[in-house]
Amino acid sequence: MKEAAYYEKLEDGKVQCHLCPKECVIVDGKKGFCRARTNLEGTLYSDIYEHILACNLDPIEKKPLYHFHPGKPILSVGTKGCNQRCDFCQNWEMIETDVSGTYITSDEIAAMADRGGSVGVAYTYNEPLIWFEFVLECAEKVRKRGLLNVLVTNGYVNREPLEELLPFIDAMNIDVKSMEPAFYEKICKSSLDPVLETCRRAKKSCHIEITNLLIPGLNDSDELIGRLVEFVLELGRDIPLHFSAYYPCYKMKIPPTPFKSLLRAYEIAREKLDYVYLGNVRTEQGGLTVCPSCGNVVIERDGYITRKTGLEGSACSACGARLPITV
Ligand code: SF4
Repeated sequence: MKEAAYYEKLEDGKVQCHLCPKECVIVDGKKGFCRARTNLEGTLYSDIYEHILACNLDPIEKKPLYHFHPGKPILSVGTKGCNQRCDFCQNWEMIETDVSGTYITSDEIAAMADRGGSVGVAYTYNEPLIWFEFVLECAEKVRKRGLLNVLVTNGYVNREPLEELLPFIDAMNIDVKSMEPAFYEKICKSSLDPVLETCRRAKKSCHIEITNLLIPGLNDSDELIGRLVEFVLELGRDIPLHFSAYYPCYKMKIPPTPFKSLLRAYEIAREKLDYVYLGNVRTEQGGLTVCPSCGNVVIERDGYITRKTGLEGSACSACGARLPITV
């Protein structure tokens, strides 16, 4: 355990955590909403410092990141806990139960990434922002080795810790789960505005891509997709937007996303955005990167197999246009 960053001591042995917008007030002996920070006798500790539950060498497309070192592997690490509680959570075992993992130091993670042919480290699987103390420490060491840091995140964090972390982060995939505040409140036990703010701030600092899990009847209306597209457009028409197919999981029993809904979202988004992708589903169209200047297919994807068929460096091999792809 390590003393937590971003909290204050209150009277009667209570503490208030300021890491995320939940702003939990925690009495002695109890944990915060994320189940990853504990008040012990008036001091707040991170329970997950140096704790790890999952560690894999994944294709970077699995994060998903499609415009950041396409086709390369990345060491992917995660632990337990989350500061949202989505009814459709696909990793709920890492949140709901008191799962045990193993312990590892930041030096060991950085060295592992350096040895394994990885472009760096992705902090993923559970919510990495509640792993703040450890992620910051790792990210500094990974950066010192000339490797890259990636966050796969729900974006639900306060401004100050985000600003402290961002200088060490090279790319982020941020979930925007709906543009409807009530969706965040009822289904994710969270709120929308801080997530949008994280997207805006991250965009100024590193490469970002946005993911939206399409759930039938909850967030897949033309109107909500239109609002999401307008938000991504505000960030930049060249920001990749991934629509992901939902499958019943955890507390959510709604049937899976029909392919026609994914296609509809794709078509709406492609009217205004240059790069739209479909995930969790086998589709040729939703996995292609096409040069917006000339229509040349520059990257083809089949599952996690990536072929850079029309790229020369970061430029389209047909027309020479520079594309927002880091290789
Ligand atoms: S990080 Fe955890 S303890 Fe801190 S405010 Fe958020 S949910 Fe609460």
